[in-house]
Amino acid sequence: MTHPLDALKGKMPYLPPDMLIDRYSFTGDILSYGRCSKQYGKFKYYGFSKALPIQAWFGDVVHMTIELLFRQVKGDIKDSLNSISSGTLPSDDDVEFHATESMNILKSKGMFGRKADREFVLELLKVFNLKEGLSFYKRIIKSEVRLETIISPSTGNRPYIMNGIIDVLASPTPGVIEIWDYKAMVKPPSGDPKLTSLENQMYNYVEIVQSLFPKYTITTAVLYFINELGPKGTGNPVHKIDLTSSTVSTCITAARDDANDVVEEIRKAKLTGTFPDPPKGSVDVKTCDACEWRWHCTSASKTYTLHAP
Ligand code: SF4
Repeated sequence: MTHPLDALKGKMPYLPPDMLIDRYSFTGDILSYGRCSKQYGKFKYYGFSKALPIQAWFGDVVHMTIELLFRQVKGDIKDSLNSISSGTLPSDDDVEFHATESMNILKSKGMFGRKADREFVLELLKVFNLKEGLSFYKRIIKSEVRLETIISPSTGNRPYIMNGIIDVLASPTPGVIEIWDYKAMVKPPSGDPKLTSLENQMYNYVEIVQSLFPKYTITTAVLYFINELGPKGTGNPVHKIDLTSSTVSTCITAARDDANDVVEEIRKAKLTGTFPDPPKGSVDVKTCDACEWRWHCTSASKTYTLHAP
């Protein structure tokens, strides 16, 4: 059976002028394409809008609120009592105040969370604030660090710009940097491909951070899975990667090669207008559960039935 979208294939050509260099975000392109090439094609390339970007909303609330809490501790912005309270641990009211502000900003951009999601994320943020506490905020030397670099693959393929954002650069001791990235999800088990992809994200960022902060030694990458702080979580949200290990340069090279391969796949898909359908069952069920394509997708990992609201 032909799909209605088949008629569009190849008719939205990707023809960047020769002098332009294409750019890719690690999370928005490399990870996203790796999660599901078909979903990436539909939403990122063909531009179908997502009706319920709840995962993005959740992650944005987490990132924005922690950033505001850090700025409150730094003394840059006021707390829930309209005072400057630098150097003190934010209260639960402060967490709620900043989380509400974050949600209102997202609302103004058309991104909403359901009541249950709003309550859940707020509880997670309160636990985060108490658990990591003042010592965490005080270790932060920079947050929301934008990274951008030109990658020239050793295979001779065309260079591209890789960009990304590091949530936090923390300095536990002078001269040392840790890279922190919050993930609004539960921690995947060791060896799970999802965890490997996230580790590869960190490996891809290490050299860029090192070039920006040449006087520091980057010792650790921390993936912080905030959903582990919820009632069903393990209470252990941290996954650490030792960047002083002797195998680290091999991991960095392998991660960079993987990213280069994905970029080539994306380029090929854009040129032909065809984004491969993943084999049925190969995409993570949670990704399909949140995908608007799931009811009629032949690659979906389970069968979805349409219900009247
Ligand atoms: S339903 Fe699943 S397999 Fe199909 S496009 Fe969406 S994420 Fe991909």
